[in-house]
Order: sequence, then C-alpha cells, then structure tokens
Amino acid sequence: MVMVDTADGGQKLLPAVMDLSPEGRDALFAELGEAPWRAQQLADALWNPAVRDWDSVSSFPQALRHELALRHAFCAVEQAQVRVDDGGHTISVVGRLGDGKTIETVVMHYGKAQHPRTTVCVSSQVGCAVGCPFCATGRLGLLRHCTPGEVLDQVRLADMLAQEHGMHPVTHVVFMGMGEPLANLETTVSAVKRLVQERGMSARHITVSTSGVVPGIERLIEERIPVTLALSLHAATDDLRTTLVPLNAKYPIDLVCTKVEEYAAATGRRATYEWCLIEGINDTAEQASALARRAQQHHAHVNVIPMNRIEGSSWNGPDAEGVARFVARLTKANVTVRKTRGQATDGACGQLRATHEARRHQLPDGKLSRPVRTASSRE
Ligand code: SAH
Ligand code: SF4
Repeated sequence: MVMVDTADGGQKLLPAVMDLSPEGRDALFAELGEAPWRAQQLADALWNPAVRDWDSVSSFPQALRHELALRHAFCAVEQAQVRVDDGGHTISVVGRLGDGKTIETVVMHYGKAQHPRTTVCVSSQVGCAVGCPFCATGRLGLLRHCTPGEVLDQVRLADMLAQEHGMHPVTHVVFMGMGEPLANLETTVSAVKRLVQERGMSARHITVSTSGVVPGIERLIEERIPVTLALSLHAATDDLRTTLVPLNAKYPIDLVCTKVEEYAAATGRRATYEWCLIEGINDTAEQASALARRAQQHHAHVNVIPMNRIEGSSWNGPDAEGVARFVARLTKANVTVRKTRGQATDGACGQLRATHEARRHQLPDGKLSRPVRTASSRE
C-alpha cells in the first residue's frame, strides 16, 4: 500500500499491485475490459528488474498504465537506505512500506563463477512478538505483519539491486530477516508458493527459519512445501531455551524437534538447527553435547551463528577460538559456522533498520520525522 494525495486534498492508501494473486490480476484486467493475456504481461513486468514503475511497463499502452496507477502502487517496498559492504558482495537495505513503517532486507552474493549464488534475506513482519533477548527485532515488539506483496517485493528489489551492482539475479530466498515467518503463516505460505509459481524458483532454494511455531510447522507438513526448514534452537535444554526463545514455554524442545523431524520425513528435506552462539550463555560443554545428541537423533544439520552484539545487551558472540572450541565439541554432528555478513553496516537481523530509525527520529527540534512517501531515496 502506498499513500497518495486525492483531488479533495485528502490522502488514501493504494494497494500494491504485488499483493494481487494471479486470480486477482485476472479479475483486474477483466474489470478493465482488457484482454486476459495482459495479466501475464503484468506478471512478467513485475519480475523484470529493469521495470521499476508503471511508466516503464512498456508492454502496456499509456492509457492502461495510467488507469492501473490510479488503482495500484507499483512498489510495495521503497528503498529508504542502501549500504554496500563486503567489497560489493553484501547489500543491506532499509525498505519503507506504504504506511511509512520500515523493514530490513539483505542481499548477499557468494562468488563462484560456475555456480553463482545470490541470497536475499527477507523480513516477514515489522518487528516480532517472540522477543528473543539477543535479537534487535525482538526488542521492537510486533508492529504488524508484512503482506505477501511486501515479502515478494523484497525479492524484486533484491533482483534490481543485484543487477545494479553486477551480481547474479537472486537464486535463494531465506526468511531470516525481521519477524517470525510462521507467526505470519498465510503470508509466508502465499509468498513461498508465488516465488515457485511466478518467479520459477525451486522450493529447495527457499529457507524458512522459525523460532518453533508448531501449528505453522504442521501447516507446512500439510501443504508438503519442500522448503528448507531452519529451527532456531539456540539451547538444547528447556530452561535455557525458554530464556533465549520465550516461545519455548508454549512449544517446548521435544515437541518442536519432533515436528521438525516430521516435516523432514514428509518432504525429504533435512532440517537445520540454528544456534546463535552467545559467550557464557549457550557455549558450554553441556549444551554442546546435548545439541550434538539432538542433531544426531534428528539427522539435522547445525548452523552456528556467532551472536552479533546489539544495543542494550551485554551479551556477545565468543571470539574465533571460542567458536572453534564449541564446534569441536559437536562431535559427529554435521556443522557449519555462518560467516557474518554486513556486520560493518549493522546488517544482522533488524540492526540496520534500528540504526536508521534511531537517526530518523532524532531531529534537531526533537520532533519525530515524517516518513517520505513517494520517490525512493538513498543515503
Ligand atoms: N524469527 C525467525 C527468523 C528471523 S531471525 C527465527 O528466529 O528463526 C533469523 C535468525 O537470526 C535466527 O536464527 C535468529 O536467532 C538469528 N539472530 C537474531 N538476532 C541475532 C544476533 N544478534 N546475532 C546472531 N544471530 C541472530
Ligand atoms: Fe523474533 Fe526471530 Fe528475533 Fe526471536 S530471533 S525475536 S523469533 S525475529
């Protein structure tokens, strides 16, 4: 949705065109008395990174573009801030939604000439209600869910930025930005299906990361959508996990791990356990051996993410030696350590956005700044 001025001096919110399902696009052109194939032309334009606004949908006559612009915003997510890091391999974006709220999207390129890979990390909610104490997004609380169009538009934006910066187009999508994707289930399911159907992605190249929303995992099992499911485990015992992931009080470890295993059995996709490694908290020998046991038992892959320090928390990730010590204890488990991307730009889960918002709200006169609603801007 985007706010536009009306003839009577007021303002109204225009729904974003990316929020139309394929059926919605068919209905739109039928209502306008246009040929049905226009709907496919629109879908093609939406996934063409060179097309950035209604004016550049060159397959449509000008009168039709004008008609569509009165009904729908072309973009659901505008670039509010873009930072390029890691020698041009990481692009962190603060995206502004139609109502002025902001989210974070990160585009990462892994350079191998034969197998280029560009991953976009998308946000599924503005904020998050789960409230993990090590996470910048958790501190925000939940402001609102993202719409499917807002999730998909982050992928489109990533394609545009990838093109601008000489990267390969997006090959992988990970739901690891702001928000809990399975707490915004309909949006996540719809966005995953549309990435497969409309953008032609393999579900195998899509990762949904969850803090353990059991009904959401059950729905993925029902739908048999073969994404990679990543469980943010972070602790292998219930008492510690309830501190790190408060949702654990509702859906405890045994239940969540069993559901994740059911999902893996139903889809043939091996699950991943994510472990945000926090010095002095979950890097102990006891946690390591309990994690290794669980990972072996459930045939899960372990992804260790050294914690990125966030403002207002004294916790931090261990140094390289501490990480290596923890990993060495995970005998027989299949483990990778995530290289942190975009750290120099506060690029980890909600941090860039937090910095952006803090600056935006600090006007010299102490008043709150108003969101800019139209053309995209860059800093
Ligand atoms: N809500 C979902 C997905 C978004 S968070 C989830 O929790 O899985 C994506 C991943 O980033 C999660 O594994 C989360 O634990 C991790 N994360 C959050 N804050 C972090 C931080 N400060 N340092 C390192 N990893 C962090
Ligand atoms: Fe929410 Fe995930 Fe952050 Fe926890 S880690 S607060 S579930 S976004």
